[in-house]
Amino acid sequence: MSKDKSAGGLRILVVEDEESFIDALTVGLTREGFQVVIARDGQEAIEAFHAQPFDVVLLDLMLPRVSGLDVCRTIRLSSTVPIIIVSAKGEEVDMVLMLEIGADDYVTKPYRLRELVARIRAVLRRHETTASTPPSEAVVEQGPLRLDIDARRCFVDGREVKLRKKEFALLLLLLENPGRVLTRDVLIDRVWGSDYVGDTKTLDVHIKRLRTLIEVDPKNPQYITTIRGVGYRLEVKSSSGE
Ligand code: CA
Repeated sequence: MSKDKSAGGLRILVVEDEESFIDALTVGLTREGFQVVIARDGQEAIEAFHAQPFDVVLLDLMLPRVSGLDVCRTIRLSSTVPIIIVSAKGEEVDMVLMLEIGADDYVTKPYRLRELVARIRAVLRRHETTASTPPSEAVVEQGPLRLDIDARRCFVDGREVKLRKKEFALLLLLLENPGRVLTRDVLIDRVWGSDYVGDTKTLDVHIKRLRTLIEVDPKNPQYITTIRGVGYRLEVKSSSGE
């Protein structure tokens, strides 16, 4: 069974309790080529997930019976399937917690179907890359950014940029997780570990300096974006110019 570049037969579990969303999602996602299975509450979601395999899960947070967070936790006990959390506008959402319990991305209602489909495809791509990439690569590349790990050299559009040790480690971590929000805690823990001294500004200072080195316009960063109150994300630009 080969996967073409459309969603061709990919199975999506849509966990949603609002009928208007269910209808729109079923029609829209089916048109995009997904096989859509609907679960209308958290308990149904867990049962559906265990009954058959899925390629991706779209998970509403506020659900009858079992909450979206608990559904996410339960799925993560046995699966690495990509999970996109959906929250309503104005809902109190702890994004750090969501990422910590294993959500891959999140969207806020109301959203455009087009945007949602782009997010779904992005987590699927990332999931495939993570699954197929051997753990230690000598070179990590995303768009114009390239890191030569052994030589500890960084190139932007072929031009070498001199990075300090922590800046290199920080950029490497971001490049290894393209399109994924990395929380401040994760970045600090993975780059500094117990070396991290001083206030939480240290991370921001390093990000700021990285931006002055790699961004075309450091004040309007296109590679490293800030997810306010949560962390940072390396943006993945599609080369097709969509
Ligand atoms: Ca809901």
